[in-house]
Amino acid sequence: MSNSGLIFLGPPGAGKGTQAAIIAAKFNIPHISTGEMLREAIASGTTLGQKAQSYVDKGELVPDELLLDLIRDRLLQADAQQGWILDGFPRNLAQAEFLDQLLTEISQTCDCVLNLQVSDEFLVARLLSRGRKDDNEETIRRRLKVYYEQTAPVIGYYQNKNNLYTIDGSPTLEEVTAALAQVIKPFFDSPK
Ligand code: AMP
Repeated sequence: MSNSGLIFLGPPGAGKGTQAAIIAAKFNIPHISTGEMLREAIASGTTLGQKAQSYVDKGELVPDELLLDLIRDRLLQADAQQGWILDGFPRNLAQAEFLDQLLTEISQTCDCVLNLQVSDEFLVARLLSRGRKDDNEETIRRRLKVYYEQTAPVIGYYQNKNNLYTIDGSPTLEEVTAALAQVIKPFFDSPK
């Protein structure tokens, strides 16, 4: 089966979620945000939500084992068979390795990994203006630290696989979307 899988990487506040939603609509593929799925689970009080809440509130990563089945089930759904955008997963090297194995197992591929790069000052300002429950200053600092310690190594992982594209996330929303679309378009145009 051929599909077009995209992964969005970048620090919290880089605009990943916003851009992933726009690109998903443009290319007609589902936007899969693990943060969004966890917030929904917390809001509806599911077992997953109850287990995840304290980590999300503190800005820590939720334990991998809570995410793995979630991702597997989501990628197996009908709407994900032609492609998808993963936003917020993988968040550490173990998740990246899990994803590789899972994709092989379910005969899907990840075509490219888009890394949105933005400076720290920019990030804190953006996050503080967003007003989400986990967007207070203390949690923001924790999330940035967690990002640099645990998530940033994932960039090198995909760089070694030669499917990483780094895009400057600081221009306007429209300019960033255009830059992303230019990288992504060939993966949708070329027959596989
Ligand atoms: P996000 O919406 O991507 O910023 O995620 C919000 C929060 O959800 C993070 O701070 C983590 O607590 C949790 N989270 C989201 N995705 C993951 C993941 N792949 N692994 C572990 N925790 C995650």
